Amino acid sequence: MLISKRSKQTIDACRFCWMCRHICPIGNVTGQERNNARGRAISLSLVERKAAELADVIDNVYECALCGACTKECVTGWDPVAFTKEVRLEAALNGQTPPYIGRLLENIEKTGNPYGASEISQELAEEIAGLPQEAEVLLFLGQDARYMAPRAAICAIRLLKAAGVAFTVLAAEPDSGYALDALVGASQETKQAMEKAAGILAGFSTVVAFDPADAKVFLREYKQWNLPCAFEAKTFTSFVAQLITGGKLRPRKLDLKAAFQDPAHLARDLEETDQARTIVDACALRCEMLLYGKDTMWAGDLLMNTYLPEVMKKTAAARWKNAQAAGAEALITASPSEYAVLDAAKPAGMQLLSLEQLVLQALTGGAGDAR
Ligand code: SF4
Ligand code: SF4
Repeated sequence: MLISKRSKQTIDACRFCWMCRHICPIGNVTGQERNNARGRAISLSLVERKAAELADVIDNVYECALCGACTKECVTGWDPVAFTKEVRLEAALNGQTPPYIGRLLENIEKTGNPYGASEISQELAEEIAGLPQEAEVLLFLGQDARYMAPRAAICAIRLLKAAGVAFTVLAAEPDSGYALDALVGASQETKQAMEKAAGILAGFSTVVAFDPADAKVFLREYKQWNLPCAFEAKTFTSFVAQLITGGKLRPRKLDLKAAFQDPAHLARDLEETDQARTIVDACALRCEMLLYGKDTMWAGDLLMNTYLPEVMKKTAAARWKNAQAAGAEALITASPSEYAVLDAAKPAGMQLLSLEQLVLQALTGGAGDAR
């Protein structure tokens, strides 16, 4: 395979080791060795040694969530996420991408998003239309919120309005490049999508990324690709935490025991864990689940839900069990994608709230509409 020397070394290191097997969210719910870093490395080492074809193991390569738990856990500094993404690119360049990934890529080409959606909900469109056309601050909603979780997008807009922030949202947002980066890694198409988005967003002084996946692209991938970034990118969580500490939002603490589900992109890729807790602490009684902060256990995402829905039900159910074991009444999310998969697996008697829903509810002492 035409992958980097470092990735070949990682494959050879991981195939003899399974020290991180216990923290893989996919391996934990499927119970299959093939799903953790070591299992994938064994498959790929067979391809490297010409004992198997890449096509034989490519499904396995797409069973990885790229959540980075193995990378974080590795005391010897290997990064299975890097070789997994490089192999995805290798497969794409050789026409060996699985058909279910090919469909997502075709959707991105045709509609700019992997879901093939061309219209946002009327309610979200009206909410956006009610905002000023021009502002220094842009709230970048992202594809998951716009097309798959519009309620989250609407609540985010309402929260910034409640804080008196002068901001706008683009009626037509560019593709940040996140989905392409996840599906085919560092392709020319990924770079072009990121460059295009950087150009469109250059007119704003601050871009607040609602989705941690987009925040990761703006704050990390742009640097790795050496792309000019004329705007200051901020995570939604850090922006809202500042609104609370600065007194622009004054939520009242609810009598609600809540655990926060750290999104892997936020906690591991961007190393941001405190800001969401500032928000939760202002609004609820925080408790922590097993594996939180940088050790977070990924709960699922909408992209993988398109081709591994049964596994996503299990990853979400596993996280609900952690929340219940911690004695939480509510699970709080900061990722629209994780919200959607957790919602589909929500056990009776538990509440699921996005951070913006939590703050909106706390602003009215729990009496308002926090949908
Ligand atoms: S990432 Fe590290 S801990 Fe995990 S299998 Fe590879 S070498 Fe072992
Ligand atoms: S990145 Fe996450 S899903 Fe992929 S092998 Fe590592 S722990 Fe498992």
